[in-house]
Amino acid sequence: MNYFSLNNREHLSNFEKAVVRGLAPDKGLYFPEKIEKLPQSFFDEIQALDKTEIGFEAIKNYVGEEIPESRLKDIIAETLDFDFPVVPVEDSVSSLELFHGPTLAFKDVGARFMAGSLGYFVEKGKIEKLTVLVATSGDTGGAVASGFLGVDGIDVVILYPKGKVSEIQEKQLTTLGENVTALEVEGAFDQCQDMVKKAFLDDEIQQKRQLTSANSINVARWLPQMFYYFLAYKQLKYKGQKLVFSVPSGNFGNICAGMLAREMGLPIDHFVASNNANNVVTRYLENGKYEPRGSVQTISNAMDVGSPSNFVRVLELFENQFGNLKKYLSSYSFDDLATKMAIKEVYDTTGYTMDPHGAVGYLGLKEFLKNHPQYYGVFLETAHPVKFLDTVEEVIAQKVPVPALIEGILDKKKKAHQINNYDELKSYLLK
Ligand SMILES: *Cc1c(COP(=O)(O)O)cnc(C)c1O
Repeated sequence: MNYFSLNNREHLSNFEKAVVRGLAPDKGLYFPEKIEKLPQSFFDEIQALDKTEIGFEAIKNYVGEEIPESRLKDIIAETLDFDFPVVPVEDSVSSLELFHGPTLAFKDVGARFMAGSLGYFVEKGKIEKLTVLVATSGDTGGAVASGFLGVDGIDVVILYPKGKVSEIQEKQLTTLGENVTALEVEGAFDQCQDMVKKAFLDDEIQQKRQLTSANSINVARWLPQMFYYFLAYKQLKYKGQKLVFSVPSGNFGNICAGMLAREMGLPIDHFVASNNANNVVTRYLENGKYEPRGSVQTISNAMDVGSPSNFVRVLELFENQFGNLKKYLSSYSFDDLATKMAIKEVYDTTGYTMDPHGAVGYLGLKEFLKNHPQYYGVFLETAHPVKFLDTVEEVIAQKVPVPALIEGILDKKKKAHQINNYDELKSYLLK
């Protein structure tokens, strides 16, 4: 399979090059040249397939010959080595829980698949030693650190803003050791992000270390997110209804992977992009004007994105036809107060605890179902409520039990290097 750059269709790369580079040399996002429909027999027999078989059928064409079948299956098996339960919450409303991975974030799947793919390319000698450089506002860093831990030939360097990630998130970044280094930056997330961008453009660094990024612009992080939708479909028990998925969206990688699954024949009739106050897509669908702006801070902070990087891929899927896109995508935006009220109401009436991101997804779904009662709806729960403990416990006035996976980490000792500016990052990377 070849990938073209969304800035220039003539520029083609295979899967390996697209993964190693992240972005095309012209800074465009990579997009698969062909999207093939899966055979009807796959959907008819999906009940009988296990997670690895489903993942393999879904992604094999996008990987092509570059990873042999048996190795690809091993990577998928490791990537999906936890549960993705669909939990009924109300009549015709279920939650797809994506937070049962090692860092309790849905980003675990993309990070593990990317680590497995890059690990294979290094092992085969197709690439030299590689440094994954990433800035995090919280969840990405932990998932990437855990996904790449112990992968030979790959170093991971994570920048995070001092005092601005939760205690659990900080421990997930700073206690692993081995090939994972955490750099604690005196500043905000935007500064971490700027330093990372600058490092990618710095020839002196690039000569010394081959850098790659691990955010959802990378096809190896973006594509495996389609697994969720297939795995959910396998579990769903509904009859004669249409199917809608509501996705709490920030950079729009997750929802775009779902839409790709639909293109491949997965019978999803509609998507809802649920936004917090950062609602550039909600406004776009209302008035046809796409106007990125600076992000504002909310309680669903992993979605605080003012200029969603994957939205160009969504547009490409619909051949940049606004009318076509509107048929399959709705979008609603909710503020923090509405989000908190939803957490409380759902907890009080059903006993189900949502995190602030899942709650935005729930609200978007309910808004859509108001006018489309014939649908069966699934919202994606993208983080465990324990990761947003302060907000959730205050709203439901109950303790949220801490999973054993997390309890262990809280006693471990934090190890991070302090850096204050770009020069300090650079000298660390050149050392
Ligand atoms: C990253 C993240 C999102 C947003 O996903 P995108 O693919 O960027 O749209 C939503 N919820 C949580 C908890 C996240 O970590």
